[in-house]
Amino acid sequence: MDVIIREASLRDVDGTVDIGITNNYIENIRPNIGQTASTEIDAAGGLVLPNFVDPHTHLDKAFFTELADPPERGTLPELIELTGEIKKNLDESAVRERIERAARDAVANGTTTIRTHLDIGDVWEQTSVRAAMDVKESLAEIVDIQTTAVPLVRSSPEKGLTGTDIERLERALERGVDAIGGEPNKEDTDQLEKDAIDVYFDLAATYDADIDLHVDGLNSPTARTAEYIAHKTIEKGMEGQVLISHVSALSYYDKWHRRDVIDLFERADLDIITTPKEDQIVADHDTTAVSELLEADVNLSIGHNNIAGTISPYGSLDMLGPAWLLAHVAEMRTPTDANTLIDTVTHNPAAALGLEQYGIETGSAANLTVCVEETPLELLRTRLPRRAVLKDGSLVASSSLSTAVGVNATHTV
Ligand SMILES: [Zn+2]
Repeated sequence: MDVIIREASLRDVDGTVDIGITNNYIENIRPNIGQTASTEIDAAGGLVLPNFVDPHTHLDKAFFTELADPPERGTLPELIELTGEIKKNLDESAVRERIERAARDAVANGTTTIRTHLDIGDVWEQTSVRAAMDVKESLAEIVDIQTTAVPLVRSSPEKGLTGTDIERLERALERGVDAIGGEPNKEDTDQLEKDAIDVYFDLAATYDADIDLHVDGLNSPTARTAEYIAHKTIEKGMEGQVLISHVSALSYYDKWHRRDVIDLFERADLDIITTPKEDQIVADHDTTAVSELLEADVNLSIGHNNIAGTISPYGSLDMLGPAWLLAHVAEMRTPTDANTLIDTVTHNPAAALGLEQYGIETGSAANLTVCVEETPLELLRTRLPRRAVLKDGSLVASSSLSTAVGVNATHTV
């Protein structure tokens, strides 16, 4: 065997087990594997999870807080303007550096699949796509990067999606991005919004791409874009290929309408991404209807979203951060809730992004994170550095932590 993880706790198994890995795959899961391996990792009773999956982030705008003058009031228009100013001063190698740094930080925390949105607006055009494609290749051994091209809203004075926006999207798709992004709610009228969505669906069919949109991030019962997207998904037979993020408006519908919309989401097999960090910090956002989506058969995942960005200056590239926040926002406090939260940063986004052989079973890809904590609830509570992270059977990150307390710091805790 190539690797054996000893004394691992798994979420669905009593007691501890050893996990044997050969040729990048899990070969064996049972107590006390008698063989030895060239790499042995002692989990010491810690929880072992399939690696975290981040289905919604913006790697190209990571660490913008380091470049900006501190905002005066922190209003959304001020922060958006600040973001635009910073972008003007970054060339492709500077963008590439940020993407790479953020991706490495994510791997350290056990995230080895990331779907990043990439800005293809007026300032950067294809800069960020080129930079991300470069990092995707250079870091392929430690992280799988998926990409969504976003024709940033109002990239010209014209209203609606312009010919230039569409051309940029096509160029990005030709470069191999996985999904078409956008924020249709920002269009001036419902009709322009629908026209933009129709174009996205046509392009997705032509290029066999996913659709991955920022939608209904408004605390308004009149925001109804997600419904139109769900309807189009069914009409075009794209069930399972469409992701929508935020969907805050769902929380503001009356309960009967919400029930109908959730039923529509189920039929369209939409993947919903909530990003609690941004949804709590932006004034007109709120978190989507988490408990009702979870009760229904809708695949709900958490996205990390901004990383030390101007809009949210927080973000540690640890998926347990937003999961911890969602636990509070959505009042998830039982051990069962904690287990569900772990699903929203592992199995659920893995399904949303179409990952194969994902999980901890014989034959699964050996993409595993070894935690210090023994239970999901404890893991969310303390979020200690991960002991080890494996991707395709290779050790790609490890951390250690030693803390001492007392006079002269003599007592190790
Ligand atoms: Zn976003």
